[in-house]
Amino acid sequence: MPVPLFPAFLDLAGRRVLLVGGGAVARRKAEALLESGADVVVGAPTLVPELARAVAEGRLAHRAGVFVPEWLEGAWLVIAATDDAEVNAAVAREAEARRVWANVVDDAPRCSFQVPARVERGPLQVAISSRGEAPMLARWVRERLETELDPSLGALAEWLGGKRYALRVRFPDTVRRRQVIEALIRGPAADALRHGDTAAAERAFTAALDEGATSRGRVILVGAGPGDPGLLTLRGLRALNQADVVLHDRLVSAEVLALARRDAERIEVAKEAGTHHTTQERIHELLVEHARAGKTVVRLKGGDPFVFGRGGEELEALRAEGIPFEVVPGITAAVACGAYAGIPLTHRDHAQSVRLVTAHCRNSIDTLDWRALAQERQTLAVYMGVQGLDTIRDRLVAHGRAPTTPFALIENGSRASQRVVVGTLADLPERAVAENVRSPALLILGEVAALATSLHWFGATPRGSAPAPNEPISPNETLPSPAPKAPALTLAA
Ligand code: SAH
Repeated sequence: MPVPLFPAFLDLAGRRVLLVGGGAVARRKAEALLESGADVVVGAPTLVPELARAVAEGRLAHRAGVFVPEWLEGAWLVIAATDDAEVNAAVAREAEARRVWANVVDDAPRCSFQVPARVERGPLQVAISSRGEAPMLARWVRERLETELDPSLGALAEWLGGKRYALRVRFPDTVRRRQVIEALIRGPAADALRHGDTAAAERAFTAALDEGATSRGRVILVGAGPGDPGLLTLRGLRALNQADVVLHDRLVSAEVLALARRDAERIEVAKEAGTHHTTQERIHELLVEHARAGKTVVRLKGGDPFVFGRGGEELEALRAEGIPFEVVPGITAAVACGAYAGIPLTHRDHAQSVRLVTAHCRNSIDTLDWRALAQERQTLAVYMGVQGLDTIRDRLVAHGRAPTTPFALIENGSRASQRVVVGTLADLPERAVAENVRSPALLILGEVAALATSLHWFGATPRGSAPAPNEPISPNETLPSPAPKAPALTLAA
């Protein structure tokens, strides 16, 4: 694997650049170089008319003849754009000897620098490189960005450039300044510029200055989903992009965490029995402390923050301290595990309701309404139940649930390591022990669990071909763990 190239944007204004070649390719390169304000010298025996005209107008200097190393004298860069491979090779070789950066058009191995594909919006430039490995791919990415990046971004970049000084004076604190600028980028100022309304943008700027001066930090409670980063919401992603601090549970997958803003401070607050323990009160303190310091705090929780997530308590604490907050829901484990194990939680033939239950300790097990839970034609989704499975089985059977009721235990739902263990209620705890089911795992109990299907990794099937149908599995079978990057299951109708 070759080392990656180091990306850089060069200020060529007034700097000498040698361009070897006088044809159509050289003409295109000359145009781009002149746009950057470079002092361009073109060396070639003959020039296409456009280049000759530029020379006549004094915009380009011309060295007539075949390349000689002396041409490199005083140049910062050289671009070889002749159709003679030997000349190009000589340019590259001589440039290397003189420590002049060289680009040979369409000959990546001879280049000491490459010219990226680019997307421009005024001063904002996006450069794309495939290291010369896949220029078509780079071009394709450029096309996509061209359609995705609004043309008004150029105006926005220039406009923000004009505000830099005022912003720096008004908000010397970098965290606060970043928040105000972010609000301008995402808010009405950018909208106004998109519609060409600079007066409205100025009004938005004044308002942002006033608001920014008074605004405090805030907390965004974000549901991270069950693990697969594809299950994070767009709003959750946006919050992670704005975060100064991310307080996360252990349940949150590394892939989701990696989506947070690069320099956001990440704090793990493990609440489950484990290596270290952060009390709920301490979590409240941390949230308040960081928000008081004016930061955007993302409280990232596995699944949905309000489903067995104690998100409610955290909001009460914030409310009591007068700290602004926002809640972004997430896909809860029951929903995700149902989808990724092919279990329709409320299939109309089998279940009229689904209950989300937690049974993490003896106390909570004793307070459950077992008679109601044992009712037929309903699906139970039991969170945190790996330990009390024998009690769950005994109580349900004692209250009338058939021992033949199917179950599915989904371990690491939606993750690459997902495993599904199925069986019937009668041997639920024994199966879990035999298969060594570990936390996090979710129990789905009810007739629908019999519909669990083995997953096919669609990513592995050739593009365009229909995925294989999902095969129903028989009880007492462990489903093969899906290959990495299990996709959400698409069930055949
Ligand atoms: N707020 C979370 C639940 C927190 S309680 C949510 O909405 O999903 C923690 C329990 O959730 C775990 O013990 C397990 O039962 C379940 N769980 C969370 N993520 C899971 C996953 N990826 N696979 C299986 N179960 C999961």
